[in-house]
Amino acid sequence: MARVDIALLTLEQKASLLSGQDQQFTKALPEAGVAAMLLCDGPYGVRFLPPGEYEDLESWLDIARPATCFPAGAGVGNSWSPEVAAEIGAAVGREARAYGVTVNLAPAMNIKRSPLCGRNFEYYSEDPLLTGVLAAAYVRAVQSEGVGASVKHFAANNQETSRMEISAEVDERTLREIYLRAFELVVTQAQPATVMAAYNRVNGVWVSENSWLLRTVLRTEWGFTGLVVSDWGAVNDRVAALRAGLDLEMPGRGEAQQRVIVDAVRSGDLDEAMVDESVGRVLALTEFVTAAEGSFDVDAHHALARKVATECVVLLKNDNETLPLDDARRIAVIGTFASEPRYRGGGSSRVRPTRVDVSIDAIRAITMKRGQRVSFAPGFTLDGSGDEESLQAAAVTLARECDVSVVFAGLAEQDESEGFDRARLELPAAQVALIRAVATASPRTVVVLAHGGVVSLEGWHDDVEAILDGSLIGQGAGGALADLLFGIENPSGRLAETIPVRLQDNPSYLNFPGELGQVRYGEGVMVGYRYYETADVAVRYPFGHGLSYTTFETSDLTVTSIGVDTVEVSVTVANTGRRAGRHVVQIYVSSEAGPVRRPVRELRAFKKISLLPGAVETATFILDHRSFAYYDVREGDWVVAGGQYTIQVGDSAAEIVAEATVTLTGHATLSALTLNSTVGDWLRHPVAGPRLLEVLGARSPMGEADASVPDPTELSRAVGSMRIRDFANHPKVGIPPEVLSKVLG
Ligand code: BGC
Repeated sequence: MARVDIALLTLEQKASLLSGQDQQFTKALPEAGVAAMLLCDGPYGVRFLPPGEYEDLESWLDIARPATCFPAGAGVGNSWSPEVAAEIGAAVGREARAYGVTVNLAPAMNIKRSPLCGRNFEYYSEDPLLTGVLAAAYVRAVQSEGVGASVKHFAANNQETSRMEISAEVDERTLREIYLRAFELVVTQAQPATVMAAYNRVNGVWVSENSWLLRTVLRTEWGFTGLVVSDWGAVNDRVAALRAGLDLEMPGRGEAQQRVIVDAVRSGDLDEAMVDESVGRVLALTEFVTAAEGSFDVDAHHALARKVATECVVLLKNDNETLPLDDARRIAVIGTFASEPRYRGGGSSRVRPTRVDVSIDAIRAITMKRGQRVSFAPGFTLDGSGDEESLQAAAVTLARECDVSVVFAGLAEQDESEGFDRARLELPAAQVALIRAVATASPRTVVVLAHGGVVSLEGWHDDVEAILDGSLIGQGAGGALADLLFGIENPSGRLAETIPVRLQDNPSYLNFPGELGQVRYGEGVMVGYRYYETADVAVRYPFGHGLSYTTFETSDLTVTSIGVDTVEVSVTVANTGRRAGRHVVQIYVSSEAGPVRRPVRELRAFKKISLLPGAVETATFILDHRSFAYYDVREGDWVVAGGQYTIQVGDSAAEIVAEATVTLTGHATLSALTLNSTVGDWLRHPVAGPRLLEVLGARSPMGEADASVPDPTELSRAVGSMRIRDFANHPKVGIPPEVLSKVLG
């Protein structure tokens, strides 16, 4: 397509390109050779709504064209596999192209701050590195198919309550280290075609009008060159948004919005150069995209959905090697989810699947060949209707007659969705009662879970032998879970989000979902496992936890400093069991270096490796300065403090299996110290501290008789809170200003 010359467009034409035509399309300018673009959800499958068929808002969720429903973000997060994210991204890209989609509105990558957030099923993790790495793999793959990605929802959109007005009150270090970090990774490593500006405000300023976020951080600091699109309806003041760097408003709001831009330019309120900049990005995007292809391989994509789903499942518990169900002769399958699978989330990401695997059918297909007998009882209804007591009684009778019972429990589609937050973590009471009753009657009980956000395991966890956590893993869920139950596949998921004991234990508990239009991120950087591990709060299952049908052994951790702030890590893993399996090597860094309170450990690298029985592999990682840095708000920069850093290999955030310590020189910056800083600040500083002590030693501070270097701890205790200026002026100290300045270099 020939490049469109912006200079040849009228102001009206340019303004028209900056807001959508309708819910999905941007405006075309046929006379100027500009085609309309099609922007469709969503993160785990294409939701293309045929134009003209979705005016009726009641039915628009169900009239989408069929597309493969892949595992949702919660499932992909639990896979800890960039390869899985990439396979899904490439397949979604192919399907998007088949439907002529220009931009796939994905991935959704907000941090899971509270387990109650209604959209946690779409998001990957409570950890920014895991989120960023998975999102980058997805973006690269979708874009390699010639379809643009739209990373969302930038930024600090961590709840659904009041999502269109809430102001996330977050300090800068927390923003940089937690809530912006995943976006930074994806923008700098995968160059997404678009970034979606969220509905909410950050520190009082609408994201859509927040030039610090959209221009300073996103474009200037991270080098983003793509297009910023609003979340649907997120624009408040169109001119302010344009000025702040928001290029495209979606959906269309008609001629009036266009007029506002034109009038603002004509009245001198808006610089036309800003309009041109945004139009340039819209035009660049129209050129990014490959032409529509027309079809995709439905069967191959379904098979892929089933295959990747197996990697997203976490084996939480497996007492007495209850799973896999090799030797059970009679198996009771209980729970409506076995016949009516829960496999997708609600809201804008709701995909209309091409087909759906049903667990009970997939189980029967396997057991028939093996001579195992399977009986089914629904046990409960999804909407709580029906006679729960007799459903439970029938399930218990069946459980009593079988060697093992497999209960399919979880949250129904109506229990969680975009648009509202959950009120509690528990499974519906009828399901908890059913699990307990079955566990009492059955010799062995396995629970298989389907849910988007975390569910509590309390009240029944200890009654059952095994728990297979399926979260939300798409249309192949039924088949994937059957493959895992019977050992055709080996579970390899690891929790991307902690399962707490109680909701009250979550660090955001007192500050979620906020009040009077504000939510204070009072826990700071202590999000998820960062808090649980630092405060030593017991959890049911930690971040990173997940079992396998085989066993792995970690050995030979070596850590070598290869620069002032860079370290090479290598570690060997062996499959010591009898089945092939996948292990996730998790590398954490733990340190108290520097002037800020740090989480006891933070995930800094990971790798999923596949090992045959007896196989051994060495994984190597380079940890660069960002693995050790904190964000220093006084410096306005990332700083690696000199000191000790312990590199830990974990089977989870709570279970460290090997560790080694390195000392890093780091980067000591002096600009944060002023004459108003305290003596304590100066003494703690790795460069200024020793220099100050030297000066003091030469001057015999506080009138001491000998002129030896003073003890910094004692000095700090005595005068640590004094301003250096006053201390230096003290008649018994008397450091001239020019000497002090020299200390600062
Ligand atoms: C959601 C976005 C979605 C958009 C378009 C909004 O309500 O927040 O995630 O992409 O709708 O459907």
